[in-house]
Amino acid sequence: MAKYRGPVCRLCRREGVKLFLKGSRCMTEKCAIERRSYPPGQHGQGRQRVSEYSAQLREKQKLRRIYGLQERQFRGIFGKAERHEGITGEHLLKLLECRLDNVVYRLGFACSRREARQLVNHGHFLVNGRKTDVPAYHVKVGDVIEVKQRSRDVGAIVASLDAIESRGIPAWLELNREAFKGMVKAVPTKDEIALPVNEQMVVELYSR
Ligand code: SF4
Repeated sequence: MAKYRGPVCRLCRREGVKLFLKGSRCMTEKCAIERRSYPPGQHGQGRQRVSEYSAQLREKQKLRRIYGLQERQFRGIFGKAERHEGITGEHLLKLLECRLDNVVYRLGFACSRREARQLVNHGHFLVNGRKTDVPAYHVKVGDVIEVKQRSRDVGAIVASLDAIESRGIPAWLELNREAFKGMVKAVPTKDEIALPVNEQMVVELYSR
């Protein structure tokens, strides 16, 4: 599937929830969901028929869009989650949450996952002292994620850190703002990930 290059607010309206794809704008009244909370398109305000399949599909699309992944990448991560012992849905959430681009976003170095991915791609981060520019890199407990010395005045990083108070840092991560460093303290639990998604329905969809 090709990369989606259209307006991202449309994706939130399609899913009917805020997916927080646009950073600070998502917190303002300019948010498209606040102004038009119905699905986009000609039939957006019409009656929607919801089958079991379409409900499962919507949950999968929601999760995939939150993390900004293409279907193939998402399917690959689901395959890994399936190979773990235990509850597949929870493993899926943990694998997604431990991607480097997501951790950069959660630590407050970027105001959205999309921006985090771009910053990682551009090589602004070190993981355990080594340059890492792979957004899909899987972080582990004890990993230290750090903004490179010469990237510490990048406008997007500074602005995002300035707004971190309003977002907060999840308990499984630790931020040292002055040192532009963060650490992974633990594997996130399902409750700490707290997304508006029923991951069990994603598992059911792929198990059809
Ligand atoms: Fe979604 Fe953010 Fe756009 Fe609101 S502003 S619709 S939360 S991307």
